[in-house]
Amino acid sequence: MINLARLNNVTVAADKKTAIIGGGARVKGTIDAADAAGVRVLTGNCNGPGTLGILLAGGFGNLQGQVGFGVDNILEMRVVTADGKLRTISASHDEDLFWAMRGAGPNFGIVVSATVKAYAMSEEERLAWCGALIYGEDKLEKVIEAVQNVELTSRMVMFCYYASSGPPYHAPVVIVTMWLHQGDAETGKVAFKSLYDIGPMMEQTGMAPYPEWNTGGNPFQAQGERKPTFGVGLDKLDPQTWREVWDKYTEFQKKPTAHASVVLMEAYPMNETRFANQASASFPHRDVRFNVAILPWYSDQNLDDEGVQFGKVVRDLLRNNDGPDKHAT
Ligand SMILES: Cc1cc2nc3c(=O)[nH]c(=O)nc-3n(C[C@H](O)[C@H](O)[C@H](O)COP(=O)(O)OP(=O)(O)OC[C@H]3O[C@@H](n4cnc5c(N)ncnc54)[C@H](O)[C@@H]3O)c2cc1C
Repeated sequence: MINLARLNNVTVAADKKTAIIGGGARVKGTIDAADAAGVRVLTGNCNGPGTLGILLAGGFGNLQGQVGFGVDNILEMRVVTADGKLRTISASHDEDLFWAMRGAGPNFGIVVSATVKAYAMSEEERLAWCGALIYGEDKLEKVIEAVQNVELTSRMVMFCYYASSGPPYHAPVVIVTMWLHQGDAETGKVAFKSLYDIGPMMEQTGMAPYPEWNTGGNPFQAQGERKPTFGVGLDKLDPQTWREVWDKYTEFQKKPTAHASVVLMEAYPMNETRFANQASASFPHRDVRFNVAILPWYSDQNLDDEGVQFGKVVRDLLRNNDGPDKHAT
């Protein structure tokens, strides 16, 4: 086990065009450092994971529609390979290793630091309109259909969750979270009109500065307890299948200690930035339209078998109905 936690420096260059991210930096620390320097950098959409852990695996993130995947934003890496050598790799130096590491990074070495692209932005440009719409299960099919049909422009991102509504009852609900970067309440409500038209039972939206964009995801990354996670990438969403997923979800989520369980689907823009640098990195999943994570979450270890079964059954349902097997993870 190699602990990189202390390699957590994030330094933005004076010209604001690049940033150096330490191998152990986490997403929140990276965003805070970028914001303090007046730039944005592509990170994941959750505050807790390692920034480079996410980037080396592809890197889906809030700015993706504008600047491409995480791997497309890496300019250079300092890597310790298995022979104990410290190498500086880039598109012009050790280019094979540079290609391979951007998509399959952890297999080839330890990244001590990476130089990534940074994008200078005014404080106003680092604002987003964002928040959540919450629906009861009676609207489920309409919500799934709308999520499938919303055309995400380069400044939009959208997630849909099956999750607990919170204590004390932990009733299961459908939550859609939305971001419109450099938007406001008026443009946001137009961009996500079809979801408003369905009639959410609750709305929590507002303007958020860059360091707060990921705050809504904090409850989903609490450490501890038991969370065998299953993932699948989908091309389309079938409302009937998602009703079956709901039934499986609510059956598991009402078990003792399992109330925090989640089924999460993430949608990012399908625009040309996804494919612009396709040949330059090994990351293979550029065409995945919906990323799904099935997260049985509980503390009672007697639920281990049922938790794994729930995850596998839901993954198979989605895999068989909504997307090709090639994206299964
Ligand atoms: C709560 C949560 C939110 C997520 N959100 C997103 C998201 O928004 N976008 C997205 O694309 N993915 C997301 N993911 C998936 C994420 O990309 C992977 O889980 C990723 O592997 C996390 O990296 P980590 O460093 O935190 O985890 P770890 O388990 O520590 O690392 C994952 C792998 O990467 C290796 N690794 C980590 N750092 C380095 C390094 N510096 N050099 C070499 N190898 C390294 C590790 O050895 C390990 O094999 C999320 C995952 C979770 C759990």
